[in-house]
Amino acid sequence: MISIEHTHAYKAYIVEKHFNRRVGELTTLLITALFIDPHAKTLVGTCGSGTEKDNAAVIYSWVRQQACCASCILELDVKTLQRRLVRYLLDIAVQHEYIE
Ligand SMILES: [Zn+2]
Repeated sequence: MISIEHTHAYKAYIVEKHFNRRVGELTTLLITALFIDPHAKTLVGTCGSGTEKDNAAVIYSWVRQQACCASCILELDVKTLQRRLVRYLLDIAVQHEYIE
């Protein structure tokens, strides 16, 4: 009997699903911890690619960039990620101050 659960495509799909779910969880945790308004567009254009629709999407793609795959993301803890994000946002704020 051929089990569909063991095909590479299915495994890849499951791993991708877990990865996306973890990215989503971390995004929510960071947004909550840092009091970021997920529906505002304050970070759009200053962080991320500039094409994200709102702050939540900016943080989501930032979190995604912090891990290359599903096993790497499991090693990231929220506190470390939070410190990294704060530093990233502060760096951007400083850059903008110098420009203006
Ligand atoms: Zn990896």
